[in-house]
Amino acid sequence: MTSARTRARMAERLRGQGIRDTSVLAAMGEVPRHIFIDEALAHRAYDDVALPIGHGQTISQPYIVARMVELAAGAARRERVLEVGTGCGYQAAVLARLFKVVYSVERIGSLLDRARLQLRDLRISNVRLRHGDGHNGVPDGAPFDAIILAAAATHVPQALLEQLAIGGRMLFPIGVNDQEMRMIERFEEGFQETRLEKVRFVPMLTGLA
Ligand code: SAH
Repeated sequence: MTSARTRARMAERLRGQGIRDTSVLAAMGEVPRHIFIDEALAHRAYDDVALPIGHGQTISQPYIVARMVELAAGAARRERVLEVGTGCGYQAAVLARLFKVVYSVERIGSLLDRARLQLRDLRISNVRLRHGDGHNGVPDGAPFDAIILAAAATHVPQALLEQLAIGGRMLFPIGVNDQEMRMIERFEEGFQETRLEKVRFVPMLTGLA
């Protein structure tokens, strides 16, 4: 249930759902999702569902992770990526296979500690974790080729736009009850926003916990 074959089946399913980038499919097929999830739920780790990770938070369903990561990986470069909302660290582990350096910021200290242990267990060394409020981004890591918000914003944080590189892409869910995914691309001439599918994410909150 938690084997490489189960992961390969998940990657195959993602291909059927429209994920095309082979490096993204490979990363999704490689990262052991079950180790990021409570043992009692590990048997559902590869189902296409969101699962609880404690503190009222959830790990996104595989399709949503793959979709956001694929769009982010379509940025002009794959050097530096910022994730807002580390959660259990799963998406950071996927990003670590596609980008040179991953910055990931989480407001809940205990989730961050657990994510740090999991990433260490997997010997992933190109993820830099920060305890902070993602509305501020990570100024000393900027500019980022891609920024992914794993929690739904109510507005586009100005600091994140400033930290996006030219040629960069930011993916974010926005809204409260009615949420949708959006992509902002940054060009020499300015920003361009694209509206994508309806989604359902936990809210982006302010301050530390
Ligand atoms: N990418 C995660 C998904 C976690 S769910 C994973 O793979 O598990 C979203 C996460 O965003 C939660 O852990 C929540 O605590 C965090 N979050 C919400 N608002 C935030 C903020 N302002 N700054 C940083 N993290 C935030």
